Formats: sequence, structure tokens, C-alpha cells
Amino acid sequence: MLRPNPVPNQFLTHSFLEEKGIELAVKRLDLVHPEVSGNKFFKLRHNLDQAKKEGKNKVLTFGGAYSNHIYATSQAAKAEGLECIGLIRGEGVKPFNHTLSSAEKAGMELHFIDRTAYRNKAESEFLVELKERFGDFYLIPEGGTNGLAIQGTSEILGPEDQQFSFICSSIGTGGTFAGLYASLSSTQYLTGFSSLKGNFINKEVSELIRIHRIYSEGQYSILTQFHFGGYAKYHEKLIEFIWWFYENFGIVLDPIYTGKMAFGLWELIRVRYYPRGSKVLMIHTGGLQGNIGFTERTGIKLPMDAPQGL
Ligand SMILES: *Cc1c(COP(=O)(O)O)cnc(C)c1O
Repeated sequence: MLRPNPVPNQFLTHSFLEEKGIELAVKRLDLVHPEVSGNKFFKLRHNLDQAKKEGKNKVLTFGGAYSNHIYATSQAAKAEGLECIGLIRGEGVKPFNHTLSSAEKAGMELHFIDRTAYRNKAESEFLVELKERFGDFYLIPEGGTNGLAIQGTSEILGPEDQQFSFICSSIGTGGTFAGLYASLSSTQYLTGFSSLKGNFINKEVSELIRIHRIYSEGQYSILTQFHFGGYAKYHEKLIEFIWWFYENFGIVLDPIYTGKMAFGLWELIRVRYYPRGSKVLMIHTGGLQGNIGFTERTGIKLPMDAPQGL
């Protein structure tokens, strides 16, 4: 099974936090593995283990051309000695972007499917077709959320995190959020920041909780006002915040997930959403490979690595 590096909780110091009376730490899941970053490490771990237990030597999954999930799956499969196939939404335009060229280099076999086929990807007929075409495989859904992924993300928080009353995480499909929620203690409250536009995510998360029979001692709420226009949409203010965060704390954020969460969290602290004296833990879900593709796509520069001496 993929083995995690120790993940530090990095406490942040800033006059703003002092003034508001908030102790804030960042759980650096971006450091959990050299290639399989962030929450994707936890989502993939038990799935790849299960694939091996079922005697499958190949995994297949879906994703967009800049997807952290595609990148992480290619790296995780390589580390576990499994073959892997990535079905990518859209046309395969060469030269490949950073995500796809890295995935291919890690050994992922890439195939491109049009948007209609992509939409039908969960239908059984399509899956039968895929088995005829590619042979037997272990299927990992788009975004990687399933029961074993949630089992994995319920292992993110450890005993050292009991000191925090408030946990913050970004949300895509909700798989990470559902696992975090499952692992809360009765004194903990989870705040989710959706990267996607719309309130549908509340329903999706309730569904995940229901389908996977999650019982939690803690509580949660999801904020949907920090999407900056929707998935992969951004605003100059968000980019400026990511640079500001990097210059102050030496931590790189991405504009798709963690940047939006941190921006939202700063806003919550500013309006005293969390009571004075609160200890807050923000989960850095990783995914920094996406920054290279973001710059390729938009021409906008983002921080990449921690600067020397921080
Ligand atoms: C995939 C991803 C998420 C979203 O995770 P879900 O389990 O789909 O909600 C959040 N942050 C980063 C950096 C990601 O790559």
C-alpha cells in the first residue's frame, strides 16, 4: 500500500490572526508523498490495494485534461506496479499539457473521448464496451470518490488534530469532505468551501453520507460563495491572495481548490465567524501540479515551491 510521509501541522503567525484571536494551522497534505499529492493520496490508497486484492493488474479512470486526479492516479499506479488507463474528456491536442505529458510519462495510457461519451461514462453499456476494448480493469470513478476513497480520507485527521475545534477543507466531489466528516469528534466542526458554483453540493454530500452510512459525532456546514465564478474560474483577487499567502507563509496554494478555501477562510476570520480563542485547522489538499497547467492555460504566473529560508 502507498505509504504516507509524516504530515506536519504548520502554525501560521500573522498580526491579522492575533488581532482576531485565532490560532491557525495548515495540515500539509501537499507533503504526504513525493508524487501522489494531497487528498488524492488518501482517496487512491485503498482503491489500489483493492485492485491488487482482486488480482487486477490494471486500473482505469476518467478526468479532465488538467485533472489532479488523473495526475495522481498515474503516479500512484506506477508506484504500485499497476498498469493504468486514463480516459480524458475532449480532444487530445499535442503537445500535451503538463498534466497529460506527466501522466503519460508515468505510464498512463491516454485515450480521449468526446463530451457525449464522457457524460455516459458511468452507464453499464459503456463499461461493457470498455472491458471489450481494454480487457479487465479496476474502475476508479471520475474524481476518485467511492467507499474506499472515503475510508482513506477518514484517515487524514489523527490524534494530534483533536486540539482543533474547527477544520476547513475545499470541496470538489465531496469525497474528501465526507471522510473528514466521518472522523470528527464531538467537539469538532467541519467547514467546507465548494470550488464549484451552485448549492447542489449540499445534496451531493448528504447523499454520500447516506449511501456510505457515515455516522459522525461532529457537525459540518458547506459554504458556496467562494467559487470565483465556478470550477477552474478565477479572479485577479484570488491570484493576488495566493501570492500574498505565499509571501507571508511560504506555502503554495492552487487557484482551483486550496486558494479558494484559504481566501474564504480569511474572509470568515475577518467577519469573526469563528469565536475568539478558536483553534482552526486548514487542510491543504495538495494538487500543486495543476499550477503549471494553469500558467500554461492562462499565462498567469503562480508560486511553485517554498522559497529558501522559510
Ligand atoms: C481533487 C481535489 C479536491 C477535491 O476533492 P473531493 O474529494 O473531490 O471533494 C480538493 N483539493 C484538491 C487540491 C484536489 O486536487
